[in-house]
Amino acid sequence: MSNKSFIVGFPRIGEKRELKKVLESFWAKECSFDAVQKVASDLKKRHWLYQKEAGIDFISSNDFSLYDNMLDTAYALGAVPKRFAHLSGEALYFAMARGSEDLVAMEMTKWFNTNYHYIVPELSLEDVYKLDATKVLQEYKEAKALGIQTKINLIGPLTFLGLSKRVDGKDTYMLLDKILPLYVQLFEELSKLDKELYIQIDEPIFAKDQEPKILSLIKPTYDKLSHVNENLHIIVMSYFEHTNEATQIFTNTPIWGLGLDFLYGKENLSSLNAISSSGKKLVAGVIDGRNIWKNDVQKTQELLEQIAQIVPKENIIVSSSCSLLHVPFTLLHENKMDPQIKDWLSYALEKLDEIKLNTTLFAKGKNGLSDAQQETLKANQKSVANRKTSSLIHDLSVQKRVADLQLFARKEPYEQRIKIQKEHLGYSDLATTTIGSFPQTPELRKARRDFKAKLISQENYESVMKNYIDECVAFQEECGLEVLVHGEPERNDMVEYFGEQLKGYGFSQNGWVQSYGSRCVKPPFIYGDISRPKAMSVDWITYAASKTDKIMKGMLTGPVTILNWSFVRDDLPRDAVSKQIAVALSDEINDLQKAGIKIIQVDEAAFKEGYPLRKAQIKTYEDWAVRDFKIAVAPAYAHTQIHTHMCYSEFNDIIKTIEAMDADVISIETARSGNELLKIFKATGYKQEVGPGVYDIHSPRVPSVDEIVTQIKLLLEVLPKEQLWINPDCGLKTRKWEEVKPSLENMIKAVKIVRSELAN
Ligand code: GLN
Ligand code: ZN
Repeated sequence: MSNKSFIVGFPRIGEKRELKKVLESFWAKECSFDAVQKVASDLKKRHWLYQKEAGIDFISSNDFSLYDNMLDTAYALGAVPKRFAHLSGEALYFAMARGSEDLVAMEMTKWFNTNYHYIVPELSLEDVYKLDATKVLQEYKEAKALGIQTKINLIGPLTFLGLSKRVDGKDTYMLLDKILPLYVQLFEELSKLDKELYIQIDEPIFAKDQEPKILSLIKPTYDKLSHVNENLHIIVMSYFEHTNEATQIFTNTPIWGLGLDFLYGKENLSSLNAISSSGKKLVAGVIDGRNIWKNDVQKTQELLEQIAQIVPKENIIVSSSCSLLHVPFTLLHENKMDPQIKDWLSYALEKLDEIKLNTTLFAKGKNGLSDAQQETLKANQKSVANRKTSSLIHDLSVQKRVADLQLFARKEPYEQRIKIQKEHLGYSDLATTTIGSFPQTPELRKARRDFKAKLISQENYESVMKNYIDECVAFQEECGLEVLVHGEPERNDMVEYFGEQLKGYGFSQNGWVQSYGSRCVKPPFIYGDISRPKAMSVDWITYAASKTDKIMKGMLTGPVTILNWSFVRDDLPRDAVSKQIAVALSDEINDLQKAGIKIIQVDEAAFKEGYPLRKAQIKTYEDWAVRDFKIAVAPAYAHTQIHTHMCYSEFNDIIKTIEAMDADVISIETARSGNELLKIFKATGYKQEVGPGVYDIHSPRVPSVDEIVTQIKLLLEVLPKEQLWINPDCGLKTRKWEEVKPSLENMIKAVKIVRSELAN
C-alpha cells in the first residue's frame, strides 16, 4: 500500500530572495516587468523541481504570487476598488498592493496569527465582478510542461469574503451570490485542463469561531462547487487551529478530501470519526509548517498511527501543517551556526524530505525505507535524543530559579504607587515624552555593521553611539521634553538586540521569511532555557542619564513581544518560555533602578498579536501574558515608574487585561483615530495613566501646532489632564531628523498652549 505526500504551499521569495530583489528594482524603475516575470518563472520551476526531486506527490501551482495570494484572488475576481479602475495589468496589481503617488494602497493585515500580512480586499455592493483566470491556468501549464501535474491552490470563497471588508462596513458574505458564480466559472475552465485534477481550496477562516449563519453557507457553496465537473477533486484545506464545527459540515458535501492541522489544532482529532464515516481523504497536517525545528519522526509516526486507528490508512495523505511560506528556505547557507544547534533545525527544503520520509515509513514500515532514508532516520533519532539532553538547551539553574520564583507582582497597589511616584518624580500634568527610538541614520547602521564585522574597535563603536546619545539628549533638552530617552542607537531591532544578549537565543544568517510583498524578516529563535549573563541596557541608559538633570527613561522589550517575534522552541509550552524571559528581564529592571533609573518602559508592541484564534483559548493566553509582564516588572520599587508601549489602540475587547498588566503608564497608538478609541478607557474606569499618541509617526508629514492642540483637546474630553501623557504614536527610528525635530517642537508648543488655556 502506498500513502501520498502533500505540501500545502511553498515559499516563493526565493532561496536568495531573488523575488524581493527583482520586484524592488522593478518598482525603482531599474528593470522591466519582463525581467520580473523571468525571475518568477525561474523560481517557480526551481521550486517545483525541488519538490519533485524530494518525491512529493501533491505539489501546488498557484501558490506562487508576485505579492500576495489574497490580492491575486481579488485581482482574478475583478474585485478592484473604484479608485484603481483606470489601471490594468501589473500597474493595477501593484497599485492595489502599494498605492501610488495619488492612490492610497489597499489595507494590509496579519494572516491569522502568523507574521505574514495579506492585502484586504475592498468590496462594495456595486462591484461588477469578472473572472480573469490567466494566472491560475498559466501556472498549471508551466508545471505541466515540466512533467509535473500540480494540484491547484485557491483561496476559498468563504475565506475570501470573511477576510475582505465592505467599503460601507456591511457584511461581506452578502456578496457570496455574486462571487460564487465566478468560482463556478473558474472551476469550469480548470476542468478543461486535464482528465483529472486536484484543487486545494483554502478555508482557514473556519479555524476561528464562526456564527451558525456563516457555517450554514458551507453546504450550499460546496455542493455547488463539487458539482461543476466530476473530474475535479476538491480538497478543502485549513490550518492553524481546529475546524471541528466546519469539518462536520464539509463531510456532508461531495468534496474529495479535507486538510486538517493536527499540530496547532490538536482538537481536530475529534473530527476523525466524521471523516472516517464519510469516506473522504484526509490530508493530515503533521509536519510543522510554521516552525523551524527538525521533525521528531517517531512522534509523527505515533500521531499518524493514532489517526489511522479511526480513518482508514489508505485515506490518509501525509502533509505539512500549513504552507511552508512561514519558514525560511533552506539550512544550506547557514554556515555560521553552531553545528549542534543547526542539527536541530529544519527549513522548507529540509521539511520536504521529512514529509517524504514520514510518508514512506507510515506506508511501508522501516523495511520499506531506502538505504539513504534508513540513515536519515537514524540521524533523526540521534538529534532528537541529543536535543532532549543537550546542556546548550537545558539549564538547571534557570529551571530552578523559575520554579522557585516568589515575586509575581509589585508589592504596592497602583493607587499607592502613583502618589509616591508623582511626588518622587515631580512631573507635570500632560508630561511630555517620546516612545524610545530616534532616527536611525546611515552612520549608525554602518557603525553597528562594522562593529559586528570587527572592522572597528569597541572603543570606536562606543564613541559613535555615545555621540549620538549626546545629540539626542541635547536636542530633547533644547526642545523642552520632560522625560528623556537615550534614542536606541545601539539597537537594530527591539527583539534581536535583547535576544543577542540572552543565553538560549539563536540567530540565522539566511532565515528570511516573507512578511508582506517583498518584505522579509529574519526572526531569531529560542532553542534553550533563557538567562541573562549580564546587564543588557544599563550602560547605555546610565550614560545617557549622566548627560542630563532631567529624568532618563530606561527602555526594554517585554517578554510577550520577545516571544511573539521569535521562533519558539517546541519542547516547552510557550508560556514556560515566556516566563523564563520575564525572569531574565526582571533582573534587568532591578539593575536599572539600582543604577538610579527612575522610569523604565517595557515595550509590548506584540502583546495583541499573540492572541489565539479561538475564544476558548483567550483566557489562558491572557493569564500567562499578564503574569509574565508582571513578573518582569515585579522588582520595581514603588517609586520606580513602569511604562509600557503598545503599537495599536483597539482595546475594546481587552481593556481589563491591559489594566491587569498593572503598568503605571501606557502609551498607545491613537493619532489616526482622534479620541474614539480612548473612550473605552473612560467607560471602564481605567485608573492608570495613558499617553495616547498625539501625532502619526508613520508618515513623513510634520504635524502643525494647531493640529496637535486639537488632538490634545480631544483627549482631554475623555480623560483628565492628571491622567494624560503627551507623546508621539510610536518610536521615531524610521523617520528623518528633518521630520522629527519640527514635529516634536510643535508637540511641545501645543502642550504649552493647552496648559496655559487650562490655567486661565
Ligand atoms: N521603544 C521602541 C521604539 O521606540 C518601541 C517600538 C515599538 O514598540 N514598535 O522604537
Ligand atoms: Zn509602537
